[in-house]
Amino acid sequence: MSGLGKLRVAVIGAGAAGLCAARHLLSRPDTFAPPVVYELTKNIGGTWVYEERVGFYDNGLPIHSSMYRDLRTNIPKEVMSFPDFPFAKHLPSFVHHTEVRKYLEQYCDHFRLWDHIQFGTSVASVTPEDVKGGWNGLAWNVNSNNSVDHSKSTTERFDAVMVCNGHFYDPYIPPIPGLEKFKGTLMHSHDYRTAEPFAGKSVVLLGAGLSGLDIAMELSNVEAQVILSHGQQPLTCPLPLGVQQAPPVTSVLDDGTLEFKNGERTKPEVFLFCTGYNFTFPFLDKKVGVKVQEHLVWPLYKFLIPPAYPSLFIVGICRAICPFPHFHIQSQFMLSVLDGSFRLPSREEMEKDIELDIAARRARGISTRHILKLDSEQWAYNDELARLGGFKPLPCYWSNLYESNKVFRARDMLNYKTYNYSVLDNMEWKVHDLHGQQLQKPLAVKKQIQMNTS
Ligand code: FAD
Repeated sequence: MSGLGKLRVAVIGAGAAGLCAARHLLSRPDTFAPPVVYELTKNIGGTWVYEERVGFYDNGLPIHSSMYRDLRTNIPKEVMSFPDFPFAKHLPSFVHHTEVRKYLEQYCDHFRLWDHIQFGTSVASVTPEDVKGGWNGLAWNVNSNNSVDHSKSTTERFDAVMVCNGHFYDPYIPPIPGLEKFKGTLMHSHDYRTAEPFAGKSVVLLGAGLSGLDIAMELSNVEAQVILSHGQQPLTCPLPLGVQQAPPVTSVLDDGTLEFKNGERTKPEVFLFCTGYNFTFPFLDKKVGVKVQEHLVWPLYKFLIPPAYPSLFIVGICRAICPFPHFHIQSQFMLSVLDGSFRLPSREEMEKDIELDIAARRARGISTRHILKLDSEQWAYNDELARLGGFKPLPCYWSNLYESNKVFRARDMLNYKTYNYSVLDNMEWKVHDLHGQQLQKPLAVKKQIQMNTS
């Protein structure tokens, strides 16, 4: 604790997650000292700060953002926003990435976050220390450097640390036998910025996640011949012109030809990986014991807290979620843990809970690499954290609108971003297509009574 008896919290990263954590910490001056937010770049927004360059910044650090020039969001603004701060009314439901960056800047203005962010400061290490009288007998030493000239190294002590360093910047390239023999252009979507350099080229694009599909559409617009190679069930919705599907690439032959799982072969000019990212926490002291194995970060109670060090929080690692509201819920839950309004179970109980949860997921056929993929389970997760922490859950329409967008996207990936949504009340919403025609909702709204919902 600081001299005034308030908890001092460090936040690593000023992307959407870190800003949200700071916003909630600042809302509770009774219990929390103003947070210190460490941000290695000169900007807030993380992923949403488009950077034309690829590779490295002038200071030698790797470029963080994976944003591409023409990206528009894949979640309607009505449910993409933080629940306490809507996007501007005049914007369409699916906005260009520059609008998201602006939105995050407005969030900083509104909640007066700017003064609490240390820009150009890279966290180098986070080390726990046993401290009598500390929160749970612990304190954290956070060592940071000036990320411009790496000169100044400072260590500060905190009661708790919220790790919000983002998870879309360290490209994951799956091991494909013979990959080094590929003779064309090999790249990851992290370095994709615009479609023009691919005009008229033959491209094998590996991975049909949201980025893979989006980039396939962009490439189709410049008349690239795209083979969308993936291991899911074949997509049944209309595909962009010039895009065909194929099973996963299994090997690269001596002459650089790609071989697919069904034995077919092709020799494209470009092999583009849309295969996701690695989790990395290079600053975390090894003794904390947070491990990354096959895309699973563990052991973390509620995907957030290492049982042995419960004043450390690893924020936003769940996948296939609605990120900003998820951060909003996790932030409030972290506060409820730290202020004692939610009493954490014992270390042993938390470890058991994690073990049982992972075992139950495995029993449902979920492989290790997909355990963090919450998808539709995110709503039960959010509700559980709100119930445990004793704060307001998301409004009722949120999950239904979000899940309906997923259905529209699966049906018509070419057009779903032209739809516009409006929220009518806590339960109801409607959606119109480009021509103003109201569309049938694909999913019924579950009538549920939620506590504390206004
Ligand atoms: P980030 O935005 O990555 O921020 C992390 C911050 O931490 C960065 O500013 C970084 O500089 C800083 N940092 C990292 N390490 C350190 C360190 N050691 N010291 C100090 N600072 C550090 N989400 C949606 O809701 N809708 C969408 O349409 C959508 N589209 C997306 C499209 C793409 C291509 C990608 C990659 C992601 C998309 N997302 C989308 C998900 C998006 O990542 C999240 O919305 C959200 O921005 C993640 O925020 P974050 O704070 O966790 O991470």
